[in-house]
Amino acid sequence: MKFSTKAIHAGQEPDPSTGAIMTPIFQTSTYAQTGLGQHKGFEYSRSGNPTRTALEDCIAALENAKYGLAFASGLAAEQGVLSLLKTGDHMVSCDDLYGGTYRIFEKVLGRYQIETSYVAAANVEDYEKAIRPNTKLIWLETPTNPLLRLVDIKAIAEIAHRHNLLLVVDNTFSSPYFQQPLELGADIVLHSTTKYINGHSDVVGGAIALNDEEAYQAIKFYQNAAGGIPGPFDSWLTLRGIKTLAVRMRQHESNAFAVAKFLSEHPRVEKVYYPGLPSHPDHELAKRQMKGFGGMVSFSFKGTQEDINRIVSRLEIITFAESLGGIESLLCHPASMTHGSIPREIREARGLTDTLLRLSVGIEDSEDILLDLQRALD
Ligand SMILES: *Cc1c(COP(=O)(O)O)cnc(C)c1O
Repeated sequence: MKFSTKAIHAGQEPDPSTGAIMTPIFQTSTYAQTGLGQHKGFEYSRSGNPTRTALEDCIAALENAKYGLAFASGLAAEQGVLSLLKTGDHMVSCDDLYGGTYRIFEKVLGRYQIETSYVAAANVEDYEKAIRPNTKLIWLETPTNPLLRLVDIKAIAEIAHRHNLLLVVDNTFSSPYFQQPLELGADIVLHSTTKYINGHSDVVGGAIALNDEEAYQAIKFYQNAAGGIPGPFDSWLTLRGIKTLAVRMRQHESNAFAVAKFLSEHPRVEKVYYPGLPSHPDHELAKRQMKGFGGMVSFSFKGTQEDINRIVSRLEIITFAESLGGIESLLCHPASMTHGSIPREIREARGLTDTLLRLSVGIEDSEDILLDLQRALD
């Protein structure tokens, strides 16, 4: 099956007991057993639930993976992957990361003496230089958040495998429609399904997909042992969202292109960050590594922090809010919102300034989005 067909059918078939076309919401905590150890594959919904299984199988299919696991949030999925580490281990990661990922690395793993070294996202050689004898994995986000730099997944996978490390790629920003990290050599791909995968801003969730049987069994064990699972209704909503992933992504991208072009020409805009623009430093890599450039556009403007409130107060269609990847356009101020947990000096050193804004371009009519931006920026 090709991508859109998988998005609609993978892991799902008409319910055998009723013929219902859509996977039912199996809103149950437990399952009848007919004797000692005799059941239909489900015993208790923390360990497994048929609605969740359908979601896990569908996400695995979209990433061309053997296995999928769903979690209660993207960060719960991260914690699942990080359960592969133990005290004294070390990780290498890129310096332009989702704020919550940085927080779990520093404030949670740090307590278990698991250290992370951060390297400039796009500098391939730096990843290898940061490897130590106790390094266990490399963790990437590409495109990065919020500066939308690209990391060469294939090159980093070669480094990781030469040193016997696992490569984890957070694929939230591209969705499997535009980028398939496992095909490029990554070992584990991770999503905040809260974003594009569900795509309707009505669920918080996470998932991973992978081919390695041993890592799968270990993370599945942790999923059940620690219990950060999504409920049946959230699993069902996410499955429903996935069905339109391909058409949504195409529209997000086409609108993002229009926005990037508009912003590039606006006199109050200092710099536009969008991998689809030929002026973007990683444009060639983006063309090679991704099937499309995605729906996220960041930009810095000429002005003060006070101006942000003026811009926000004039917006009528775009909403000022955290998060991304939903059908509606959302504008966010990374320095105070998504990346507020990163200390100012570190943030600014990475180019994440107080006048940087990040736009998750929705699938409204592009003319309306442009008019809204124009009204606010003018
Ligand atoms: C939102 C996000 C996360 C965290 O996911 P939650 O669902 O909010 O827990 C992780 N990585 C990236 C890139 C994100 O955008």
